Amino acid sequence: MATSRISGFRDLTVDQRRDAVAEVAGIDVTELDAFDAAGFSVDAASHMSENVIGTFSLPIGVAANLTVNGRDVLVPMVTEEASVVAAASNGARMARTLGGFHTSSTGPIMQAQIQVVDVVDPSAARLRILEARHELMELAAEQDPKLAEVGGGVKDLIVRTVESVDETYVVAHLVVDVRDAMGANAVNTMAEAVADRIAEIARGRVVLRILTNKADLRLARARAVLDAESLGGAKVVDDIVHAYRLAAADPYRAATHNKGIMNGISAVVLATGNDTRAVEAGAHSHAVGPDGRYTSLSTFEKDADGNIVATLELPMPVGLVGGATKTHAGARAAVAITGVQTAAELAELVTAVGLAQNIAALRVLASEGVQRGHMSLHAKNIAIAVGATSDEIGPLVATLIAEKAFRHDRAEAVLAEIRGAG
Ligand code: NAD
Repeated sequence: MATSRISGFRDLTVDQRRDAVAEVAGIDVTELDAFDAAGFSVDAASHMSENVIGTFSLPIGVAANLTVNGRDVLVPMVTEEASVVAAASNGARMARTLGGFHTSSTGPIMQAQIQVVDVVDPSAARLRILEARHELMELAAEQDPKLAEVGGGVKDLIVRTVESVDETYVVAHLVVDVRDAMGANAVNTMAEAVADRIAEIARGRVVLRILTNKADLRLARARAVLDAESLGGAKVVDDIVHAYRLAAADPYRAATHNKGIMNGISAVVLATGNDTRAVEAGAHSHAVGPDGRYTSLSTFEKDADGNIVATLELPMPVGLVGGATKTHAGARAAVAITGVQTAAELAELVTAVGLAQNIAALRVLASEGVQRGHMSLHAKNIAIAVGATSDEIGPLVATLIAEKAFRHDRAEAVLAEIRGAG
């Protein structure tokens, strides 16, 4: 079986890395040409957004070491932040010792809301709508026969009442299995189609008819056991649990803890052409517990053997059809690298990467602190920012790291010295 543990991966050239990735992924290396500047033309871009004046590039890197449900997988990540890809690989390596990540997910269920205002009898209107549940579900289903063909479709109609400042809104939810789509367009079309009929039944007026990004019926989960010895022993284990507990108890820490998770998640979501904002909105809304408090998305517990068990569960509305997933050549190549076949598999993979990222961050925070590793990688950015050429970056970065001086003024001075000596 192909292994995602590629030794010396970071020391290879870009071309050598592409060969290694293609070999592990079992794809033709030419598929990775999509990541060259020519892979995404201005013409293609001009059809994707509005008022287009060009394209904007970011690095795509590949995280190694990940095992998900016994399958080794390489993970394409698009991010502007140094150390994210390295940290994901590190977290995946830590989880690998005791079997990697175990994942699961609910069905790919999205919901659209239809808001009815000016209803004089909201409780009765709610029941009138529910009495017409079958008729409304059929009307919605007619909008997307393709979904039923691929095994999805409208699954339920839920009706809530929501207290607002001076009236009670009736809010109907269409519950739809969107299969391999992210599903926003699919459910929005359905919501618009049933809106008039719902207004009529409720004897009110429909205002909003759009999906909810609180996709709490579309959850993906990942779990990993981390070997105490490999983490650095009992003290590091205890401190990782302390670090997690602060995130669980304190929103100031939870925001940063969850941002660390999203470092991994958003990078894979972007690489695969999916909607980062939808995933982020879903994640942060899920981080608010039943008591209304914002908290950690993940958990870290010590198990009976003294090892750490880390878990993550959150909404993961990602797709393999629709949006930019099929129209962007780079996104298609990124999906090909992962080898996933369904949106559910992609959702679980993304969640595993989020947990890997979180594990790496807590491990380093609970021991040496982030700055050493992070700033060493950041030194490269500083070198580029002060104008170092590719020949100069190596010696300049080495000096900055040796001096622990990660400042632009010092970088400029060292660069001047390098040029003077040359
Ligand atoms: P889409 O409408 O382009 O594709 C989905 C459609 O593909 C389905 O309705 C179905 O008819 C068809 N299809 C074919 N094969 C399928 C399969 N195997 N599984 C499922 N469907 C299949 O896209 P979408 O996924 O409905 O919407 C995603 C886009 O909507 C994204 O670009 C997102 O950014 C955007 N969007 C998001 C929001 C939001 O998050 N609030 C709002 C509006 C739009």
